[in-house]
Amino acid sequence: MSETCAVRLAGVWKWYRGTVVPAVRDLWLDVRAGELLAILGPSGCGKTTTLRLIAGLERPDTGAIEIGGRVVAGGGRFVPPEERGVGLVFQDYALFPHLTVEENIAFGLRGFARQERARRVQELLALTGLEAFRTRYPHQLSGGQQQRVAIARALAPHPAVLLLDEPFANLDAELRLRMREELRRLLRDVGVTVILVTHDRDEALALADRVAVMLEGTVVQVDTPERVYHEPRTREVARLLGQASFVPARVLGRLGRSDIGSFALEGAEEPTEQVELLLRPRDVVLERHPEGLGVVVDRRFVGAETIYRVLLRCGITVETSQPPSVELAIGERVEVRCNRARVAAFAGDERIGLAALLERLGRTRSADTEAPVAGGTDGAAAS
Ligand code: ADP
Ligand code: MG
Repeated sequence: MSETCAVRLAGVWKWYRGTVVPAVRDLWLDVRAGELLAILGPSGCGKTTTLRLIAGLERPDTGAIEIGGRVVAGGGRFVPPEERGVGLVFQDYALFPHLTVEENIAFGLRGFARQERARRVQELLALTGLEAFRTRYPHQLSGGQQQRVAIARALAPHPAVLLLDEPFANLDAELRLRMREELRRLLRDVGVTVILVTHDRDEALALADRVAVMLEGTVVQVDTPERVYHEPRTREVARLLGQASFVPARVLGRLGRSDIGSFALEGAEEPTEQVELLLRPRDVVLERHPEGLGVVVDRRFVGAETIYRVLLRCGITVETSQPPSVELAIGERVEVRCNRARVAAFAGDERIGLAALLERLGRTRSADTEAPVAGGTDGAAAS
């Protein structure tokens, strides 16, 4: 294990008393020191349980948990929550209703000398912009302010790791966006390792250095936001991360052909005959063309962009997001092109090891056109 690993879960399983299905199942996860890692997964997949295991509020049935290189659970060892150097912000914030803002923040500083405690509380009131509210009680605060108190309270004792459970779930949509920005700024200043749990993909993608995708009690992929979005390990992950279309392609040798163009398979020795290409809404360029392989079947204006649904000759409908300059009517024929250099290819349920490399396609409307070959020149694009 590297010394930059702040939290490590190794083969952790957790069954709640009286249940058959494990809440957490063979979970492996390395969190790097100083990073913000988001655990993204649907409701009930085990996110809260994972945080509670790290915080020491639950014990794993098997497996081990390390924090800062020290085993805190597993192998007969169990370090209690208050000795783990971990701050936890609960989904409902769990503020003490009978304590003021500053008393809530001071709560975690009981072991500190009085002066030191007052100094630290002041520091956190300033950091979270709560100085004017120090003597208020939780019920006299807005949702966003309550959240800041909860974060200040968790950060007060200088934890090495901060755990946030669905931090924005209780805020309305507008406040959610603002608090997201605020949280990012605040955490950057503090420099603490953060594990944030959410079922909201936009939140995970916008905030995290890395995203751990969790399904049915286990982490199935850990990658940068860009990679989990564009190179998901499975179709299920692809869909969890956002709108996804899968376009079938025939593989002939090292070449694949589809209604969105021909492409070369990198180092293709795969004995696959049929793959499917993952297309995200912004990966697609539409151009009006009488011989195009797509037909516009639906358009939806959403302000900054228009969502077009296009039926391809292969029978698949792709959802695309187009800038205002694109104006197409329902029923129009279009040429459909992918504007990405690489797209993920799937065989069965899993992404195949080799990424499909799309050639830059000048003309793709006729499937009979000789396709450009792998490693070839850009001639086809220019012609
Ligand atoms: P998430 O936070 O991703 O929504 P949880 O970790 O809360 O998921 O729950 C994971 C699974 O464990 C769910 O099926 C849930 O019903 C179950 N579970 C959670 N807490 C308990 C508990 N105290 N007793 C029994 N089952 C529980
Ligand atoms: Mg939860």
